[in-house]
Amino acid sequence: MSNIQAIRGMNDILPEDTRHWRHLEQTVSRLLASYGYGEIRLPVVEKTELFKRSIGEVTDIVEKEMYSFDDRNGENLTLRPEGTAGCVRAAIQHGLLGVPQRLWYMGPMFRYERPQKGRQRQFHQIGVEAFGIASVDMDAELILLTARLWRQLGLADSVELQINSIGSSAARRAYRAALVDYLTSHQDALDEDSQRRLHSNPLRILDSKSPQTQALLDAAPTMADYLDDESRTDFSRLCEFLQAAGLPYVINPRLVRGLDYYNKTVFEWVTDRLGSQNAVCAGGRYDNLVEQLGGKNTPGVGFAMGMERLVLLMLETGALDQSGQVLADVYAVAAGDRAQSTALAAVESLRDSLPDLAIVQHTGGGSFKSQLKKADKSGARVALIWGEDEVSTQTVTVKHLREGSGQGDRSGQQTVPGQQLEATLRAVFAD
Ligand code: ATP
Ligand code: MG
Repeated sequence: MSNIQAIRGMNDILPEDTRHWRHLEQTVSRLLASYGYGEIRLPVVEKTELFKRSIGEVTDIVEKEMYSFDDRNGENLTLRPEGTAGCVRAAIQHGLLGVPQRLWYMGPMFRYERPQKGRQRQFHQIGVEAFGIASVDMDAELILLTARLWRQLGLADSVELQINSIGSSAARRAYRAALVDYLTSHQDALDEDSQRRLHSNPLRILDSKSPQTQALLDAAPTMADYLDDESRTDFSRLCEFLQAAGLPYVINPRLVRGLDYYNKTVFEWVTDRLGSQNAVCAGGRYDNLVEQLGGKNTPGVGFAMGMERLVLLMLETGALDQSGQVLADVYAVAAGDRAQSTALAAVESLRDSLPDLAIVQHTGGGSFKSQLKKADKSGARVALIWGEDEVSTQTVTVKHLREGSGQGDRSGQQTVPGQQLEATLRAVFAD
């Protein structure tokens, strides 16, 4: 029988990688807590209607990337392709929006895309949303928070901040008309995708990857010329905030977002280290979304970052330690029935007294030699050895597996009375 494989584009994350993920998750959750954001956990499945109404009918996501299906009751449901829609839905449903809210979430998202490095069909995002604050100091806070995260992750030199304003919906309408006028007169020179978008979603042509289309855009009207006064003022205020904080940025007049709900500020953090999957974090303001989903008119601004891309980037740039995996601090081995019972009980009581140490107990028997090989491979600093001698003298042998690890006989081993084991380990792991 052939083996059953995982679904294309949906990856297993194995223990050697989960430690990197945990590092990312812990860094982010600490940082967000320090800025006053509360975590919200949301379902992975929502009504399809939610995404159609928020993301927009003529976007790539809704047109061709959603995993939608009828449940047994005939209701059309979708595996969430992004988190903002569900977060807004939940905030409305639970009446969270009477006061400003800072929320964040993390988890898998699903899009039917062509899988490649940094692009999966199941991928993971950390999303952050702030509701109830219309002024642009909120946008600035979010951007500064991301910049701090890159510093904490050792990525500050590998990413660049791009910002733009896409204005009010009226301003965007006027700009869209001007852009369509211009591009229609050069229609034949547009790539095929852009020709199609010319009538469905022309702003998306701005981030077309076709060099020919990009060349054409050099002479196209730009959004900046059509901005409404309020958006223009907000945008220059945002630039002032970033300058005052000493955060470099690039204004990218062609930066638009693939989702319909954005207005005013849009931003992206991009890298040149991951090929064409160059965005690690993207977001912007969405002042009309809450109302569009049936809530009271409430401004919002947020972003999402791609966790796969961040882990790849950390590995790529050496920001993560790729050296041998450390599974254990201490590895306990024992040979013989009596020794195994003694070891098991002793390790359990060590776990009580030294809860911060990772102590792996060898299981499955075998010779001392083979057990000690496992101990060495685990990355542990010391092995604890129980044999017949140790059992009859109520001692334990502490073998130092790494050069310069702790006190005493650094490279060799020492046999200590059982009651002194805890103190001995404390001394070894004190430095
Ligand atoms: P892209 O242009 O790369 O398709 P996007 O604009 O569709 O990205 P968003 O919807 O803004 O992406 O999602 C925010 C972030 O989530 C992206 O910047 C990226 O880091 C990550 N992301 C989006 N789609 C994927 C995917 N299929 N696989 C892995 N990460 C993804
Ligand atoms: Mg995409």
